[in-house]
Amino acid sequence: MQNNKKRGLLIIISGPSGVGKGTVRKEFMSDPSLNLFYSVSMTTRQMRPGEQDGVDYYYVSKEEFQRNIDINNFLEWAEFVGNRYGTPKDKVNMKRDEGKNVVLEIEVNGTDQVLKNLEGDDIVSIFIVPPSLEELENRLRNRGTETDEVIKRRIETASKELKLQDHYQYVVVNDEVSRAAEEIKNIIRSRMHKA
Ligand code: 5GP
Repeated sequence: MQNNKKRGLLIIISGPSGVGKGTVRKEFMSDPSLNLFYSVSMTTRQMRPGEQDGVDYYYVSKEEFQRNIDINNFLEWAEFVGNRYGTPKDKVNMKRDEGKNVVLEIEVNGTDQVLKNLEGDDIVSIFIVPPSLEELENRLRNRGTETDEVIKRRIETASKELKLQDHYQYVVVNDEVSRAAEEIKNIIRSRMHKA
């Protein structure tokens, strides 16, 4: 069915928690010409107010997550500040085979796993950085969705994550959502033409 379709790109969006990955992602994904599909991850984290099961994440128990590890269902998975997050692999492969450019929004350990296991010029890796660490801290606090303890751990994690930006092909500063989204759209367009 899909034999003469060109396989889609795998686009990794990463960057520290609170940098605005989700907001930037929703902005660039609204451009239909990029033919994008968002891979919804599985997580053991509690649902935040306003989030939806199957849209933001598939929310599962620790046991269910472990079962998915055991049956080798993840393209990658990682533990982040006390919870587990993983990318279900079948959907990613199916959508790429259909010609869709699949977007993953994952943390840095997950990226390293993907880059280790898959190679090729159809992988696009983008790291989003805040204008400064202070700005990131403000954003995490203003979001008001986590306890002080969790915020503290996320900020400590962020300063470690920022050091890994050279694992990525592109680094984009989220100084303004629409500008950062535009920069990412241009990256994707250029890679779609190259692939
Ligand atoms: P949050 O709890 O803020 O939604 O996500 C915490 C971190 O986990 C974020 O950096 C987010 O991008 C990352 N994340 C979300 N889904 C996945 C996934 O499937 N795999 C990995 N490795 N990280 C993920």
